[in-house]
Amino acid sequence: MSKADLHIHTVASDGLLSPTQVVEEAKRLGLSAIAITDHDTVSGIDEAITAGKRLGVRVVPAVEINTDYGTHEVHILGYFIDWHSEKLAGQLQQLRKARLDRGRKMVEKLQALGIQVKLERVLEIASHGSIGRPHLAQAVCEIGAAENMSDAFNKFLVRGAPAYVERTKLTPFDAVTIIADAGGVAGLAHPGQVGHDDLIINLVKVGLGAIEVYYGDQDPAITKHYRNTARKFGLIATGGSDAHGRSPDGGSGIGNVTVNESVVDELQAASRFHL
Ligand SMILES: [Zn+2]
Ligand SMILES: [Zn+2]
Repeated sequence: MSKADLHIHTVASDGLLSPTQVVEEAKRLGLSAIAITDHDTVSGIDEAITAGKRLGVRVVPAVEINTDYGTHEVHILGYFIDWHSEKLAGQLQQLRKARLDRGRKMVEKLQALGIQVKLERVLEIASHGSIGRPHLAQAVCEIGAAENMSDAFNKFLVRGAPAYVERTKLTPFDAVTIIADAGGVAGLAHPGQVGHDDLIINLVKVGLGAIEVYYGDQDPAITKHYRNTARKFGLIATGGSDAHGRSPDGGSGIGNVTVNESVVDELQAASRFHL
């Protein structure tokens, strides 16, 4: 069986391996296809495709967009997107900028309170990915201004606390639209972590085309549940490792979850963008 890992991060977002290294690792593991799904960026795709052509690994141009749904974070995958689309590039850049601006503003507020955290350090903690409050909380703890993470949150970072800054919200519906505009197939990432099944039917209405049924070491009952969900709504059942280049077993994490390569064909057929 030809195997595909459809959820992999590179140094273009918060992964540890370069796009070329990811493709080399996939080749070594005998995978026939992979998708590069960096957070809010497509900047690793060209390099991965070049390496994929050289090594005979099929590379799916993809992205993972972080969104908010109430108090939950919902990630939307986009497969076979036109990654050279200027409109898409602009939209993703705006997202990354909004996140960086928010992180910067929270650092400024902390500094104004006499808490001398440095933006540089916060970015390091976030592995130069998108800055979130946990990264700020860790920086606050490191300089001894809070006893632990929850203390840091309560004193400074919860809504209403003095260093809190509201975030610009992007909804999962917006992300599905962004991906559809770029010709891609939108998929709901790790639905077991979202736990809001009512969201799925509403996303289907705006064009959701796939759902990440196979993910991590989730309970087989959850996998079964989402396999049924995929069937019920006619969604393509995807799966992937969500590898960031280092896993607890000491490996890269790549290939820990795979699907049959035929899923890649299904995604390609459903996409309006052709390589
Ligand atoms: Zn995710
Ligand atoms: Zn991911």
